[in-house]
Amino acid sequence: MVAGAVLDLRIPALVPNWIGGRERPAGDGREFAKLNPATGSRVCGVARSGASDVEAAVAAARAAFPAWRSLTPVARGDYVRAIALAIRDHAEAFARVVHDETGKSLRDARGEVNAAVEMGLFMAGEGRRWYGRTTTSAVPHKTAMVVRQPLGVAGLIIAANTPIANVAWKVFPAILCGNTAVLKAAEDTPATAWAVAMVAHALGLPSGVFNVVQGFGEEAGAPLVAHPDAAIISFTGSTAVGRTVGRVAGARLAKVCLELGGKNPLIVCDDAHLPGAVEAAVMSAFSNAGQRCAAGSRLIVFDQVYDEFRRLLLERIGRLRVGTGDDADFGPVINAGQLEQMLAAIETARAAGTRVLVGGHRLSGPGYDCGYFLAPTILEGPGPDDPVSRHELFGPITALYRVRGFAEAVALANRSDFGLTAAIWTRSLHRAMEFVGRIESGVAVVNGATYGSEPHMPFGGLKASGNGLREAGTEALDVYSDWKTVYVNHDPGAT
Ligand code: NAD
Repeated sequence: MVAGAVLDLRIPALVPNWIGGRERPAGDGREFAKLNPATGSRVCGVARSGASDVEAAVAAARAAFPAWRSLTPVARGDYVRAIALAIRDHAEAFARVVHDETGKSLRDARGEVNAAVEMGLFMAGEGRRWYGRTTTSAVPHKTAMVVRQPLGVAGLIIAANTPIANVAWKVFPAILCGNTAVLKAAEDTPATAWAVAMVAHALGLPSGVFNVVQGFGEEAGAPLVAHPDAAIISFTGSTAVGRTVGRVAGARLAKVCLELGGKNPLIVCDDAHLPGAVEAAVMSAFSNAGQRCAAGSRLIVFDQVYDEFRRLLLERIGRLRVGTGDDADFGPVINAGQLEQMLAAIETARAAGTRVLVGGHRLSGPGYDCGYFLAPTILEGPGPDDPVSRHELFGPITALYRVRGFAEAVALANRSDFGLTAAIWTRSLHRAMEFVGRIESGVAVVNGATYGSEPHMPFGGLKASGNGLREAGTEALDVYSDWKTVYVNHDPGAT
């Protein structure tokens, strides 16, 4: 790609796979329709790939691996940096693709594109650090060290909620570490993955290093998970599917990274800065239409400030705008099926006696009728073990819980199968640090939202939120590389 060249990233009529450096339809020619969640209208057709397409992509990745791994990490980082900078050069076009696929505002899409660029720039720098360890040996004239090595073909599977960031979080560290990649794009956001691969190939990334397979989970994801040549499966998605992925890939002893769901608590203590806590709660629960693994879906509030917090919260929700323009706070949910599931969960909760304080229904009227818009929804007082308290809803829905104090708040926060993120609002340093120590989560936030990760910081969860690995940060290198322990006897005659 010549410097300054502008690529045409408009979504094509059929979004293809990228296999071995070429765009390809599904081998059997099948396709499915991708709809715009804001309008319900067709955006494009998508290659409906199956096992034979996965086979071709894995073969291309396997063939590209020896040459790619033999580049220095610095050289691989140079490719990653070039891709990140080209995404930045095409930021507006990428934001448009994300906007058209997800219905989120261009403003939010731009933010997400920027996050992907930042991840690329951070990971590119890791190519120059690439630290191992040297140490001493019990034997004279012998050096001991630990160095990183790539794994092989990386099978990457992602969710649709923040499409370009999800691609960046997996593809950049995977190829930086010397692996070649087969990305199974999310079926709801096929064009974003296609466009990133387009940029990478225009820049001259060697064929087969980054392959994209479009399609559904059962048809295109499952064959990748089961493929004997995929040395690692890195999966971001629901806990239910993650369990299957872990079982299938684990049975063939592949490395498995699982980044799964959350049911993230935000505790508001009696000494909290209430306006700040309300704003953090609203952003945690509703930004990106609640389609975040780190969404704040359980608001746990001390009795002393409960009524005031609730009043301020409802007042703030009354000012939320739902739509696709840059003045909107959030947009539609990703597809009709997800919307139906959310409405069903709300009805189940209502039938069990939970109060629906606000929302709880699909939005209608001009601008809403054909899309998948759910009103911002606050539930009050569900039981801690009710389905709505336990299951991730992945939409603009949160619940309020009243507690008598700190011990009860932390106990309720921890009463979950998940353990991804958690936040507390308090002015007490002691309380904050007690919370940090006791909360069962991979991310703990004091006086902030439940989301908001940074590229140089590890992200991931405990319990049903993951399997102990972390993405982003230097820790991502531990996902996509393995250690090699090296002994060098530098005076062979002395042994
Ligand atoms: P999902 O599990 O239904 O799908 C995720 C991906 O897995 C998609 O690409 C899908 O096609 C694929 N898939 C589905 N079935 C498969 C199978 N049998 N084999 C292989 N692949 C399969 O999840 P979703 O509803 O699309 O995404 C939302 C979920 O993702 C939420 O649970 C959310 O919390 C989670 N998520 C987690 C993180 C994190 O970092 N922890 C980040 C974003 C989203």
